[in-house]
Amino acid sequence: MTRNTQQRGRQRDADREGTESTEGTDGIGGTNRTDSIDSTDLPARGEADETLGAGTTPGADAGVLTLDGVGKSYGAETALSELSLSVAEGEILALLGPSGCGKTTTLRLLAGLESPDTGQLRLHGEEIASAEASESRPPEAFGLSDLEDADREARVAELLELVDLAGRGEAYPDTLSGGQKQRVALARSLAPEPDVLLLDEPLSNLDVRLRVSMREEVHRILAEAGVTAIWVTHDQEEALSIADRVGIMSEGRLHQIGSPEKVFERPATRFVASFLGQAGFLAGRVEGDRLTTDIGPIGREVLDDHGDRDGREEGEAVDVLVRPDDLRVTPATDGHAHGRIVRQQYRGPSFIYRVETTGGDVLHCLHNHTESFDVGRSVRIELVAGHQLAWYPREEGSRDGTRDRGIEAEVETDASATLDR
Ligand code: ATP
Repeated sequence: MTRNTQQRGRQRDADREGTESTEGTDGIGGTNRTDSIDSTDLPARGEADETLGAGTTPGADAGVLTLDGVGKSYGAETALSELSLSVAEGEILALLGPSGCGKTTTLRLLAGLESPDTGQLRLHGEEIASAEASESRPPEAFGLSDLEDADREARVAELLELVDLAGRGEAYPDTLSGGQKQRVALARSLAPEPDVLLLDEPLSNLDVRLRVSMREEVHRILAEAGVTAIWVTHDQEEALSIADRVGIMSEGRLHQIGSPEKVFERPATRFVASFLGQAGFLAGRVEGDRLTTDIGPIGREVLDDHGDRDGREEGEAVDVLVRPDDLRVTPATDGHAHGRIVRQQYRGPSFIYRVETTGGDVLHCLHNHTESFDVGRSVRIELVAGHQLAWYPREEGSRDGTRDRGIEAEVETDASATLDR
């Protein structure tokens, strides 16, 4: 039955007329349309990997769904600016970013609930909305009403099995748990076999534990159904764990799009670096084959090559991205301290120490829960990364951490089970 669903997911009806979209409750909706296209034109699932600057459109014609230079403003507020991306058949693309970065606006444009001010949206190569068009294609209602009774019952049974609710078709909503209701919402959205499923923070109303298990479950269901999906979230762990590719947005702009590993390990911009993980920036200066920093000299070969940014000129001031697992502290016993612990976060299995270096860098260090150091303690800091590190040319204001403090506050708000000391 699952196999049938997969086949249905992949055998789109080439003759359906019109491009329609749906948006349902629970942040889940779909976009339907007509033509099938040759799958050989498409990047394979998870294969495409791009870094986008404003106005660039690499791979913009390759996907099931394509946005090209899309912009949207509300009065003086620019919600989206020059958004260009494409989504491949069967791909799960997560759009991730802080509140107000334009994620929901993107989904509303795709669902036909808003019209773009600039640019064009295409589904299977056919325009569904553009700045020039007078209107977007209207939303389509959910349902299986076009099917004969027997086919409808078979489809319902198939969907219930897919979402692990076989035999619960007659259950009243108030007899279902939060997770089961979410599965029903997903089954409803998959029923009309959408070309693209739109998920807007689909797990945000669930408690933390359920959210983690449901994201695995929703990921399984989407993969088995073979459905193409855009999953909007502000939860970075959710995005990195469920998506084939992640698009990182801020202030209406797409900063980077690529595999979870790529965006996490090689952030294209300082913003992406700041937003993912509990990032810190270690200030350094290139001197010969070394980089001088507050935690001592480090070999400049540890710096990642950033395409055309691999100059690392003599004397160049750089900020090196270091995350908590890249660093360790030890108490300074000989008076030669690199910095001081200014905060201790207890996370159950681990501590995260916030450390201020003598030069003013703010770094985080991850330690096992058995390694407890007091706030105020002078420490030495060791780089234990074991991999190349992303770096950025030094920017004014970056050394004192003010540039990234707002972002960090937001990231930390998301962290559950954290106790500051
Ligand atoms: P969140 O994670 O908080 O839902 P978001 O990334 O989904 O945020 P959007 O809802 O797309 O962000 O909003 C992007 C920007 O556009 C915000 O500054 C928001 O205030 C503005 N905006 C969105 N919808 C409207 C509207 N109908 N009228 C005026 N401004 C709007």
